[in-house]
Amino acid sequence: METKLIDDPVQDAVGRADVPLVPGRDADVVARPARGKTYEDLIIERWRSAVRFGGPEAAERRREHLVYAAIKQGGALAALAYIVLQPTSWVEWSGFAFFYVLNILGMSIGYHRYFTHKAFETSKPMRYAFGALAQMGVYGSLKRWCMDHRRHHTLSDQPGDIHSPYVDDYGRPLAGRKGLKHAHLGWAYGEATTNPDMYGKGIVGDPVIEWAHKTRYFWFAVSAVIAPGLWGLAFGGPGAVLGTIMVAGFLRLALALHMIAAVNSFGHRYGYQNFKDLDQARNNLFLGYLTLGEGWHNNHHAHPRGVSTSVRWYEIDASAWVIYALEKLGLVWNVQRPDMHARPHHR
Ligand SMILES: [Zn+2]
Ligand SMILES: [Zn+2]
Repeated sequence: METKLIDDPVQDAVGRADVPLVPGRDADVVARPARGKTYEDLIIERWRSAVRFGGPEAAERRREHLVYAAIKQGGALAALAYIVLQPTSWVEWSGFAFFYVLNILGMSIGYHRYFTHKAFETSKPMRYAFGALAQMGVYGSLKRWCMDHRRHHTLSDQPGDIHSPYVDDYGRPLAGRKGLKHAHLGWAYGEATTNPDMYGKGIVGDPVIEWAHKTRYFWFAVSAVIAPGLWGLAFGGPGAVLGTIMVAGFLRLALALHMIAAVNSFGHRYGYQNFKDLDQARNNLFLGYLTLGEGWHNNHHAHPRGVSTSVRWYEIDASAWVIYALEKLGLVWNVQRPDMHARPHHR
């Protein structure tokens, strides 16, 4: 794959008839363009400052995601063969359930609601705990994830969005399976990376985020092998170690990754919207329950800083319940509770 710097794909795309700019989105939600400028100008300005193309960052991200994909998907396939060929018991499957919940919480609370959206505040030891838990969720570098996700919110489903099923890295329209593939995990193998000068404030240089970034492969090993292995040993003895690593390590990691990635792909295409005219984010019943609340994605796009993603009574957000419990215990505070029914304003 190419790793050289590409001159200026944004310039290349400007004025092209197939660039799917969506001018005049709800004026309460997107920033207003400066006097004399149009919404198209604003979107292009933001796109240009949001993204870098090629270079070592893109190559490093590609390498990292290839390592994860090879080990997780390869391990998950081996686990499926193992399940067919070997008897498994409650030890492997209780580990699967336990680590799945922990994995999703690492992504939902760690990567997403705390480090990216600052939906609450907490102590230094708890920040390290959330940092480790996030990296144990194994969705790539926490530092990169936070910046990427901010870009996703400011440019969602517009040129410059990191993972939209409607537009690629170069502003070209996407549809069908190709769009889903790009939004799911395809984006990680492309050339466009997030500009840290634009989105790195409070992230780059944060000691906990930098520490999590540096130690991320260690947490990957803990999540995939060490913790499930110990679970197997504790509850089933040495004979259960391999099976628990297979089922509660590799198979669980692959499932959790695809569930959360599906919020970005299927969750921007299939489902219903409580808030119209924002972008294409949807609330999806299947994803909402299985991702412990992350799949109420339209609600989240409407109120990104809110600790909860729930608007209607049946939109159960188990991740927020965990944060409320931590709040009761005094471990987190300043929990952000916007009126989730309110129409979103300027972001
Ligand atoms: Zn989204
Ligand atoms: Zn978000």
